[in-house]
Amino acid sequence: MKTRNVNVFYSGVQAIMDVSLDLGAKQVLALIGPSGCGKSTFLRCLNRMNDTVLGCEVQGSLSLDGVDISALEPEELRARVGMVFQKPNPFPKSIYDNIAYGPKLHGLVESKTELDEVVEASLRKAGLWEEVCTRLHVPATGLSGGQQQRLCIARAISISPEVILMDEPCSALDPIATSVIEALIMELKENYTIGIVTHSMSQAKRVSDRTAYFHLGKLIEVNPTEEMFEQPQHHLTQGYLKGRFG
Ligand code: ADP
Ligand code: MG
Repeated sequence: MKTRNVNVFYSGVQAIMDVSLDLGAKQVLALIGPSGCGKSTFLRCLNRMNDTVLGCEVQGSLSLDGVDISALEPEELRARVGMVFQKPNPFPKSIYDNIAYGPKLHGLVESKTELDEVVEASLRKAGLWEEVCTRLHVPATGLSGGQQQRLCIARAISISPEVILMDEPCSALDPIATSVIEALIMELKENYTIGIVTHSMSQAKRVSDRTAYFHLGKLIEVNPTEEMFEQPQHHLTQGYLKGRFG
């Protein structure tokens, strides 16, 4: 995905200032920076989630595989650019139905057998199959937080997106569930392009190929992750990495 000169306003107040940032195919890009610097806002631009936010205006050019995303139907775009949120948000339905919902809605399957296959494949890719295969028809809300988050990732995967956006996907999880999700992210990047907002610098370091540092709505620097952590170019990035603010 490519973005150029993106500006975002909430009721006229600017939250993102002239950001140009790309997500490399089958790479993980981490977005870091102090609270309120615009990470979530920028992430939401990528699948036009800000369209649904009252008073929010997005300017600039954003494209997916060379096609301007404003030319796509929001439903199509969101099928190709999936999103996983901070708090796991399974539907109040069974585990099976959580995954089956998207493929049915988008007409991706023609039979019950095919649907069963997609559900199993999605749960396997999200590393959840072994844990839930004997109880696919129980309510998803009974799963642990970490399992629910993997379910949400399986749900995103079920409609074969190209890009998966994750907004602090581990912030509601314990350290063990977090490390399971991190391992999953590393596996998923074989097949998907991933953008992840995290307030954990160590998480950015562990899972991402490139890291972008935001400050007060501006993109301060973006570099290969190792480089960024070893030799941050900008004094603001240096300050953040040293824990001076944020
Ligand atoms: P981050 O994810 O880095 O913490 P956000 O993208 O949530 O930052 O917020 C960036 C700025 O935009 C903040 O000043 C925040 O108050 C403002 N903002 C975010 N969402 C809204 C909204 N729905 N309405 C008005 N202002 C918002
Ligand atoms: Mg945020």
